[in-house]
Amino acid sequence: MSNMDQIVTTDIFINGEARAASGGRTYDLYNPARPKELVGHAAAASVEDVDEAVRAAHAAFPAWAALGWEERADRLREIAKALTADEDDVKYRSRLFTREHGKIARETLLEMSRLGDRFMLAAAFGERMSKDEVMGPAGAGPQFDTIITRQPRGVAALIVPWNWPLSILGAKLPQALVTGNTVVVKPAQNSAMAPVLTLQIIAKMLPPGVLNVVSGLSSEIGDALVGHPLVRKVNFTGSVPVGRHIMKLAADNLTPVTLELGGNDAALVLDDAELNDEVFEKMYWGAFASSGQICMALKRLYVHESRYDEVVDGLTAACERAVVGDGLIPETTMGPVNNVQQLKVVTDMLAEARGKGADVKELGQVPDGDLYRGGGYFQKPALIYNPDPSLSVVREEQFGPCLPILKFATDDEAIAKANDSEFGLCSSVWTPDADRAVKLARQLEAGYTYLNGHGPMAQDSRGPFGGFKNSGIGRNLGYEGLEAFAASHTITGPAGFLV
Ligand code: NAP
Ligand code: MG
Repeated sequence: MSNMDQIVTTDIFINGEARAASGGRTYDLYNPARPKELVGHAAAASVEDVDEAVRAAHAAFPAWAALGWEERADRLREIAKALTADEDDVKYRSRLFTREHGKIARETLLEMSRLGDRFMLAAAFGERMSKDEVMGPAGAGPQFDTIITRQPRGVAALIVPWNWPLSILGAKLPQALVTGNTVVVKPAQNSAMAPVLTLQIIAKMLPPGVLNVVSGLSSEIGDALVGHPLVRKVNFTGSVPVGRHIMKLAADNLTPVTLELGGNDAALVLDDAELNDEVFEKMYWGAFASSGQICMALKRLYVHESRYDEVVDGLTAACERAVVGDGLIPETTMGPVNNVQQLKVVTDMLAEARGKGADVKELGQVPDGDLYRGGGYFQKPALIYNPDPSLSVVREEQFGPCLPILKFATDDEAIAKANDSEFGLCSSVWTPDADRAVKLARQLEAGYTYLNGHGPMAQDSRGPFGGFKNSGIGRNLGYEGLEAFAASHTITGPAGFLV
C-alpha cells in the first residue's frame, strides 16, 4: 500500500456542494484483484437525495438553457483542460480507479483523457445545434414563414455502467450540457469513486445545480431517478434487462429514453485479409482490452475457412503474450474481471463449452501465481476453437476475456452468421479491399462497423454510436448524440412575417 492508498470516502454532489448522503450512509468497495482489500466507502444516496438532486437540476435549467451555446461550449473546453491539468491528482484518480475497478493503469489514464477529448468534440458540435432552419414560402397551398429551432429538454438523468464509466460519460454528459440541459448522473455501484471525484471537478466548474451526482445502490434509488416526474430525458448505458426495465418505467411519464445496451460483436476476416503480428495484436486488443468487458469488444470472430489456421495461430500467440495480474503493475496487460458475478458468467460459459466437447484453451502469462490463485477475479484470456454455434459463448454476450473463433465459406454466409443475433451493436470487416468492405458493412445489422480494427481504439468519436435490435435505442456521440438531448420546436407565421 502506498500512501496514495488510504481508504477513501466519496460524496454525492448536489446544487454546487459535495456532501455525505443523507444519514451519512455509504457502501464499501473492494479491490477485484484482492477482494479482501477495502478501497473505500462511496456515498449511498437516498431517494430523498435523488429528489433533491433532480430539483436542483430543474431549478438550474432555465438559466443554463438561456446562456447560449457559445458560452456553454467555452465552459466545456475549460473543463476538458482541467480534467488532466493536475498531474498528481490524475495519478491519484487513476490509481484509485484501478483499485476499485481492476482495469490496468494505462486504461484508466486513457479513459480520463478520452473524457476530455469528448468534451472538446461536443463543444465543437454545439454551433451546428444552435443553427435554426429558416424557410420562406414555397410551393402551392397556404404560404408560411417557418423557423425550426432545437430546444434543450430539461433535466437529463444519465446512468452509466461500471466497465468504462468515464468514456461512456463522455458520450452523453458534454452532449447534454452543451445542448442546454442540466444533469443528474448515477454512476455504477462497482466503479463509483474515481468517476465521482472526476465528476466533481466538472461540477465545480459549472453553475450550482447544472451537474449533480448521486452514487448509490440502484435497488434503492434507480427507479426513483428514472421515474422522477421532473426528469425529461433518460440516457442509460448498461445491460439489456435493466434497459427494458428503464424503458417501461419511463413510459409512465412518457420520458424519452436513449438506451445503449449489450453487444455480441462479430468480426469478419475475409479471404484476402492482410494478416501479420500487428494485425493479430489489433484483434487481440479488440477482444481482450479491459478483460473483454467492453460493449463494443469483438465477441465472435468469423474467419474465411482458407485463413482459419493462420488466424488461430496468430491470435493464440497474441493471447500467450498477455500478462495477467494486478493492474497497478506496469507490466500487466490484463487485470481481473471487475466482479464475481461477471467472472461466473465467463467461467460458466467456458465450462459449458468444454462440457459439450469444444476445444477451449486458456492462455497468457501469470507472473504472480499466488495473486492469481488468491481469490481475485482473474481469468486468463481464453480462445474457443471452431465451437458449435449454439453454445452460449457464441450466442450470448460474454463480457469477459474469452473469444470463439468460427469459420465461414462465402461472404453471404459471413453476413448471415454475423446478423444471426439478437444484438446489433458493432461489427468489423477485415480486408484490404475498401469497396468490398463497405459493401459488406452496409449489410450488417449493427450501429457501427470498424474496418481492419475493432473496439475503442478503432472508434471515431465523431460518428454516432448505438445499436440495432436488443443493443439499444437511439445514439450517443457525434452530432446525433446532441440531438438526442434536444427537441425540435417549429415557429410559424404568415408569409412575409418572419423571413
Ligand atoms: P447494469 O447492471 O445494467 O447497470 C448499469 C447501470 O444502471 C448501473 O449504474 C446500475 O446501477 C444502473 N441501474 C440498475 N438498475 C437500475 C434501475 N432500476 N434504475 C436506474 N438505474 C439502474 O449494467 P452493468 O452490469 O453495470 O454493465 C454491463 C452491461 O452494460 C453489459 O451488458 C454491457 O454490454 C453494457 N454496456 C453497454 C454499452 C453501450 O454503449 N452499448 C457500454 C458499456 C456497457 P448499480 O450499479 O447501482 O446497479
Ligand atoms: Mg449490474
